[in-house]
Amino acid sequence: MKLLIARPMTAAVEARARAEFDTEIRTSTAPMTEDEMLRALREFDVVMPTLGDMFSARVFAQAPEPRCRLLANFGVGYNHIDVVAARGVGVAVTNTPGAVTDATADIAMTLLLSTARRAGEGERLVRLGRWEGWHPTQMLGHHVTGKHVGIVGLGRIGQAIARRCHFGFGMQVFYVARSDKDVDFPATRMDSLAALAGAVDFLVVAVPGEAETRHLINADVLSAMKPSGILVNIARGEVVDEAALIAALSEGLIAGAGLDVYEFEPEVPEALRAMEQVTLLPHLGTATEEVRTGMGHLALDNVAAFVAGRDLPTPVS
Ligand code: NAP
Repeated sequence: MKLLIARPMTAAVEARARAEFDTEIRTSTAPMTEDEMLRALREFDVVMPTLGDMFSARVFAQAPEPRCRLLANFGVGYNHIDVVAARGVGVAVTNTPGAVTDATADIAMTLLLSTARRAGEGERLVRLGRWEGWHPTQMLGHHVTGKHVGIVGLGRIGQAIARRCHFGFGMQVFYVARSDKDVDFPATRMDSLAALAGAVDFLVVAVPGEAETRHLINADVLSAMKPSGILVNIARGEVVDEAALIAALSEGLIAGAGLDVYEFEPEVPEALRAMEQVTLLPHLGTATEEVRTGMGHLALDNVAAFVAGRDLPTPVS
């Protein structure tokens, strides 16, 4: 059973993979090229791809009878894999739900607080030696406790963010999702995204990246937000129309944004980098040793189940 792992992993994950399977681990931290993906499909039984490895219909069309039978994706988001095309050539796909939830919710709160309280801007001021001392009207930001938060996509991560907002910050939670959610905190489902955007102080995006959610946050949604509103995106870059976001920020239609992901990642437009009212993180959602190890173990649990002929623990639907 030959396994290809598409990126270097934590020591614990690499050790387990090598102990349990005939494993090759790519040394590059960059996404796989098309040639590498084709080799992976033709020469390995299982591949553990991740963000940026574009297993598109075009790639599967070039490997119509692959040796590979499972893409055990490292990550809950799998919008880089055409799951229908994979299934069409007999390749199953799994992901790592749950392992990522709390860490990603923590990063959403980091972005919300940093943007509202101007933490990035303040940190830059201190580092540049330009801080002239405390005074009553210095760097006034947006109060967070008790405000209204709107969650776009109240799934695992969306609920974890909402819990933090409700229990930690006494915020009122509003949301949109495709179905009603049964949660253990008060949460009001709104009829439309525009209604949600207009009702809240913080709009937090937590939907999966897919054709249906591309540019879900567009100029109309941004213009429905309050001028004091702050957008946070921890989902996928393409869910937000980045050009529309830059325009909304430049024109003062919204007050700020906290971003972990970007439409053309890792490109971050100069216009965003020049704005003090945005907090920009380099896709840090799950970036802790224990979380990345947990994700790797869940991906390897799927590999192990596949090898043993058992049901896959976390197949994507
Ligand atoms: P999840 O449990 O599947 O939750 C997604 C939620 O989005 C579901 O509640 C779903 O509603 C809702 N949804 C889907 N399409 C929608 C639409 N068009 N309008 C409104 N709501 C919609 O997924 P998760 O585990 O929370 O992960 C969410 C995403 O976060 C992942 O797919 C990934 O892209 C991203 N992520 C980012 C990072 C990072 O490093 N920044 C880390 C982990 C994950 P229903 O339940 O009603 O279908």
